[in-house]
Amino acid sequence: MAYTYDPTNIFARILRGEIPNKTVMETPHTLVFHDIHPQAPVHVLAVPKGAYVTFDHFAAEASAEEMVDFHRTVAKVCEILGLAGPDGYRAISNAGAHGMQEVPHYHLHILGGRVLGRLVERD
Ligand code: AMP
Repeated sequence: MAYTYDPTNIFARILRGEIPNKTVMETPHTLVFHDIHPQAPVHVLAVPKGAYVTFDHFAAEASAEEMVDFHRTVAKVCEILGLAGPDGYRAISNAGAHGMQEVPHYHLHILGGRVLGRLVERD
C-alpha cells in the first residue's frame, strides 16, 4: 500500500509549532495533547512525529524506536491522567473515509473519565 502524506494537515502544523496545543507529554518521537473538542472528561490525542497517515501506515513503516517511544508514551500518559486503573479508558484510531478520519496524520484518541458507551453505533 502506498501512503500519501499531506504535510499541510493540522497535526503536521502543530508538530511544526505553527499552531498552539495543550501538551500533556512530548518525547523525541511522540506528542500527546488535549483534543480541542473533548468527547469525554479526558480526551487526548497521541501523535507520532513522523509523517504517517493511519494506524496501519505507522504499524507498517515506523521504526522500532518510533513504535516503542509511541506506545511507552501512551502508557505513561494513561498513568499520569489516572486512566490506567480499573475504571479504564478507550483508545481509538480512525482511518480513511469509513473510519471518518478528519485529520490525515495518524493519531490515537485516548478517552476516559466516564462510561463511554458501545464501540460503534448500530445502523
Ligand atoms: P479524527 O476524526 O480521528 O481525525 O479526529 C480528529 C480530532 O482532532 C478531532 O477529535 C478534533 O476535535 C481534533 N482536533 C482538530 N483540530 C485540533 C487542534 N487544533 N487541536 C487539538 N485537537 C484538534
